[in-house]
Amino acid sequence: MIEITLLGTGSPIPDPNRAGPSTLVRAGGQVFLVDCGRGVLQRAAAVGVGAAGLSALLLTHLHSDHIAELGDVIITSWVTNFSPDPAPLPIIGPPGTAAVVQATLKAFGHDIGYRIAHHADLNTPPPIEIHENTDGTVWDRDDVTIRVAPTDHRPVAPTIGFRIGYGGASVVLAGDTVPCATLDELASGADALVHTAIRKDILMHVPQQRVKDVCDYHSSVQEAAATAQRAGVGSLIMTHYVPAIVPGQENQWRALAATEFSGQIELGDDLHRVEVQPR
Ligand SMILES: [Zn+2]
Ligand SMILES: [Zn+2]
Repeated sequence: MIEITLLGTGSPIPDPNRAGPSTLVRAGGQVFLVDCGRGVLQRAAAVGVGAAGLSALLLTHLHSDHIAELGDVIITSWVTNFSPDPAPLPIIGPPGTAAVVQATLKAFGHDIGYRIAHHADLNTPPPIEIHENTDGTVWDRDDVTIRVAPTDHRPVAPTIGFRIGYGGASVVLAGDTVPCATLDELASGADALVHTAIRKDILMHVPQQRVKDVCDYHSSVQEAAATAQRAGVGSLIMTHYVPAIVPGQENQWRALAATEFSGQIELGDDLHRVEVQPR
């Protein structure tokens, strides 16, 4: 069984009820944080997961809403890990990830220096191991495998989706993307697909062109559902709602997805949890 928890279902717009885009995936005792939007560690704490307990941080792309708390994840995983020789935190993302992580470490350089000076048992900066990939297997440890493939969120490029497999079950995390063949292939036959969902029918009526632009490089609810249908997945788990779901209108979103997808449809608030079994 693979357990998915929507830690943050929000968007770049601060929302008192929704943290920024982040999803927690737990499989076989391993814990993966997929993207690290605003407020992610507070939400993770609500399900008993601390930064030091992460097996890896997976980044779909380098948009600010998906990496807003990168510094917090790096620094907190470092200062809350009390093992004498902590293993490095693997960070797996598209090309560009190393530069962003290095710049983040530089931004927190003063903090890192203060802590090393103050604590006798902190002698090195946060140990991190960065892997940049756009295609292929990126993880194969204790029965958990992770594969990545390119997605299409242009002009944001490169961007990747993740397919996590364990115990015969598989879960795909699409991130932000328009429908594309490489995502169809990555998601093919998966038990669940976690996908960003944008209400283009609403955003197209917003007067600001900058808001309308959001439609260019995301999938609508119906497009995400059509991807799920083409790939033949068991469940579509929508997240990263733009605009935020108005309380009471969940069924409207569900109905839009059901016009294109005949499987199980999941959506909800932060901390919505789905147990994915192999079919
Ligand atoms: Zn994005
Ligand atoms: Zn986004």
